[in-house]
Amino acid sequence: MDLKTYIRDIPDFPTPGIVFKDLTPLLGDAAAFRYVLDRLAERFAEERVARVAAIESRGFIFGAPLAARLGAGFVPVRKLGKLPAATVSQTYELEYGTATMEMHRDAFAAGERILLVDDLLATGGTAAAALRLIRGVGGEPVAVAFVVELGFLRGRERLAPEVPIFSLITF
Ligand code: AMP
Repeated sequence: MDLKTYIRDIPDFPTPGIVFKDLTPLLGDAAAFRYVLDRLAERFAEERVARVAAIESRGFIFGAPLAARLGAGFVPVRKLGKLPAATVSQTYELEYGTATMEMHRDAFAAGERILLVDDLLATGGTAAAALRLIRGVGGEPVAVAFVVELGFLRGRERLAPEVPIFSLITF
C-alpha cells in the first residue's frame, strides 16, 4: 500500500514556512489506518513492550490502538496542566515554538519496557524530551515509533543511537 498517497501537504500551517503533513486522509480510510496499525504491531510484537507511551495529541491516535494490539498498557504524555495527579515535566523546542510536556510520576514501574509513539518525527526535540521523561522515572525505552519521518530534518541523528528509531513513511 502506498501510504504517501494518504498524506496531504498543507503549506504555511500552523505558521508561515511550515509544510504540515496532514494525516487525516489516512485516518479516514479504514484500510490505510488498519494497515498502519498492523505494520506497527508486527514490528513490535516480539519486543515484550509493557506499555506504549504516546505524545499528545496525534500520537494518541496511533499509540492507544497499538497498545491494545500489543497487549500493553497505554501512558499519555500530555501538554502542561492536563494530567490530574503528580507529574514529571520537560520543556523542549519544537519546529515551531517551545512547549512543556508532562507524564504521571507513577505511570509505570522502574525497569518496564516502554515503546514511545508519535505521529511524526521532525527535528526530534519532542521525542527526545519524552525519552527524558520516560528515563527520569526509570522506564527502559525499547524504541521510538513514528508513522512519518521528515528525513531532511535529521531528527533521527538526534535520537539514535541512544534508542532504535522506526518509521513507516519517510519524506
Ligand atoms: P519535532 O520535535 O521537531 O520532531 O516535532 C515533532 C512534533 O511536532 C510531532 O508531535 C508532530 O506532530 C509535530 N510536527 C512537527 N512538524 C510537523 C509537520 N511538518 N507536520 C505535521 N506535524 C508536525
